[in-house]
Amino acid sequence: MVHANELQRFVDEMPKVELHLHLEGAIPLETLFNFIQREGTEPSIKSADDLRERLAYTDFAHFIDVWVWKNSFIKDERDFDEIAYQVLRDLSAQNVKYVEAFYSPGDYVGRGFSVQGIAERLLEGKERARRDFGVRCELIVDVIRGDGADVALRRLDEVGPYLGKGVIGIGLGGSEADFPADPYEDVFREARARGFRLTAHAGEAAGPESIWACIDKLGVERIGHGVRAHEDPQLVSLLKERQIPLELCVTSNFRTGVVESFEAHPIKQYFHQGLMVTVNSDDPTMFDTSVSREYLILAQKLGFTADELRTLSLNGVEASFLPDDDKVLMRSQFEKEWEQLLSECSVNANGVEGGRIGEGQ
Ligand SMILES: [Zn+2]
Repeated sequence: MVHANELQRFVDEMPKVELHLHLEGAIPLETLFNFIQREGTEPSIKSADDLRERLAYTDFAHFIDVWVWKNSFIKDERDFDEIAYQVLRDLSAQNVKYVEAFYSPGDYVGRGFSVQGIAERLLEGKERARRDFGVRCELIVDVIRGDGADVALRRLDEVGPYLGKGVIGIGLGGSEADFPADPYEDVFREARARGFRLTAHAGEAAGPESIWACIDKLGVERIGHGVRAHEDPQLVSLLKERQIPLELCVTSNFRTGVVESFEAHPIKQYFHQGLMVTVNSDDPTMFDTSVSREYLILAQKLGFTADELRTLSLNGVEASFLPDDDKVLMRSQFEKEWEQLLSECSVNANGVEGGRIGEGQ
């Protein structure tokens, strides 16, 4: 059996990729607290702990309310530089080597921010983070269901100059239950033609039909969440056959009530069915999680073995939008680090490699 501290160290030191993280949902607590203090308009938030307590939700609508409240403290385009830098610093401390991060310019354009200004500041912040911490990040621009195809097409024009210079793709976010993907077919066709990589949130707040639409109509290369795919065995077969990666976010699904418990999450089932499963944190600050913690939960609550965690971490490289040459390099770096980690760590030394690792005290 492995001591809990040892397991924590193990998941912290694993090399990782993060493919489904919203920058605005990942602002480290201290940074967000500083933004709030700067305004001086929230006397009830006297400390980071007060803020942590505010980040708890009765239901999904409440989560959205708190999300909007939190965004109201982003007051200056320069804040996006700080957000990118601090988020990447935090991820780097968890040995995350590469990040594909969403951001949603549409949430800010009505408040005097420009799409270009936000992009420029994010690029500055992420380049600073790469220089200081070695972590690489590419941006995925979220277009929002319900904003309409015209707005989404305009967004492609606005972020077009940054494509290949820090922006790598577009994603579809927003309310999946209220707004089907179909009206965005032309937007995604156009995005693909221009060279954007494609992903969409689906199968989280709506069922398998929502995932089918994103695959068939939008031609996405990955599915954000896809947690409800298991409701349709034919869909599961297709996901397996085409190895369409799922950007799974276990804690997020538990906190928003998509699954009733960590144990009820289908990630283990998908993994054993041979789907291309990746592990991600979605909105880590909002859901009181981290990428490391997601792996810890898989070990402790879902019985993933050390060897299976290794496969999941390598899946992150495989499922990324990195060019093939970069993937080869990153995979070999990951394999070296894994070898070292397993040779040093009592997760291996205790002879439990390949066995259940989450039961010790
Ligand atoms: Zn998400």
